[in-house]
Amino acid sequence: MLKRILLTGALLISVFAVSACGGAGENAPHGAEEAKSMLTSGKYEKKEQSGKTTAEQSIAAADGMNIISYTAENDEKSVAMYYPEFQLKNVDEQLDEYKAAKLNIFNELIRSEDVSKKFVPQLNMTFDANMLAENIYALQFVIDTYISEDKTFSETEIVMVNAGTDSVLTGESLFSDNLNSRDHLYNTLLGSMKSDGGIAPYLNEEKLGRWVFDESNDFSNVRFSDNVLEFTFEQGEIASRAAGSPVVSLQMSELLKAMPESITRLIDGEYIERDEPALKERGKEPEPSAYKVRKLDESTKMAALTFDDGPDNVLTPQVLSLLDRYDAKATFFLLGTKVNLFPAIVEETVKSGHEVGNHTWSHKDLTTISFNEITEEIVRTNEVIGKSSGAKPAVYRAPFGANTEAVDQFVPMTEVDWDIDTEDWLTHDPVQINEMVRNNISDGDIILMHDVHEMTVQSLADMLDYLTDEGYQLVTVSEILHYKEDIRTE
Ligand SMILES: [Zn+2]
Repeated sequence: MLKRILLTGALLISVFAVSACGGAGENAPHGAEEAKSMLTSGKYEKKEQSGKTTAEQSIAAADGMNIISYTAENDEKSVAMYYPEFQLKNVDEQLDEYKAAKLNIFNELIRSEDVSKKFVPQLNMTFDANMLAENIYALQFVIDTYISEDKTFSETEIVMVNAGTDSVLTGESLFSDNLNSRDHLYNTLLGSMKSDGGIAPYLNEEKLGRWVFDESNDFSNVRFSDNVLEFTFEQGEIASRAAGSPVVSLQMSELLKAMPESITRLIDGEYIERDEPALKERGKEPEPSAYKVRKLDESTKMAALTFDDGPDNVLTPQVLSLLDRYDAKATFFLLGTKVNLFPAIVEETVKSGHEVGNHTWSHKDLTTISFNEITEEIVRTNEVIGKSSGAKPAVYRAPFGANTEAVDQFVPMTEVDWDIDTEDWLTHDPVQINEMVRNNISDGDIILMHDVHEMTVQSLADMLDYLTDEGYQLVTVSEILHYKEDIRTE
């Protein structure tokens, strides 16, 4: 039977109905140390206790699946973890344990490290979900850990869920660790690469062999999309550098022989085929369009508010409605992982006339990763922004503001830093956030904030009052660059 179930598509039509999330069996990581809050009957409730705030909520994302967002913020750490909930006892318990285990590792790390005062350690966990067959999901978790400026980790893990039998396959390698299976994987990859004119002339079969048979290979370069497995290799990893960063796409059906029986048994010929009409329909999607600079009086003072690290499913809508009230436009530098989870909020942002910029896929320090990884971080994010909102970002901001001349030259977008750092991420204090702006603002300034901190949102009404009273037009970064620096970003 030919079926086409595209879960990422389902996630794109997220319903932002908020549902209560289960209290039983939930373990707050630090017990009484951290206050815990729940959503009850569609209301977002938050409790604070000695400056420490955690929040947990559940969002209906697709049929039978909710997204749980767990956040914990205080002076010592900033945690944002997103994971699915299937309303199945066993699966949900195990996914909750999975989250708790990752959180414990992080808490251990920050306890054992001499963390500098200037840097709040961060843990971000997001996921992609793909339905491989009826009731069979591949969850691809991306876990990013920032302990200090020079200590960051990123890991990708695949967790398979069988919603039909309420079971989880964890700790299972995607491909069986035996000679026959790996041989099959090798030959399938090789066959595909040999028929690809862009890769074949550069292919190094020995390197490919070493990669496939490497015992420590966790296949974290594999991405699921529908029933396709996409392998992205580093430049020089399996081919000469002239081939760039090769990408090989294989149908799931071609690789079943390389997978452990515990996985294939679940899929059992039910894997999902792409069908032609759907592909054609996709071709009809309009090209994303860049932000159009408005006609403005350039003799009037201007300031550009910018919000990084979102979208946040709770706080971003609050920011949008505040901006609307003051007829202010702003720029949101978005993380691809979060756009992927909350596309409807990005659509709303663009519809409201704001500019969206690229803040990379997973907030890695671009000065520490390869050019291939930078490309992946930037391109994937532009794609998901385009898909969710029809917008084509013309501007990007490097995570941590960390960029070099070489990175700037490499990324074909306008890099936008800031003139005023409100330090909202450090102080979490609306009074201090506003003082940073009042004491430093001048015509043409770009202001850095984060729409993922509650205190930032609480500081915003005062800031908008002050700036409009002082005669500032609140504009986007493309507008401020256009009118005050004579730089065109499109
Ligand atoms: Zn950031």
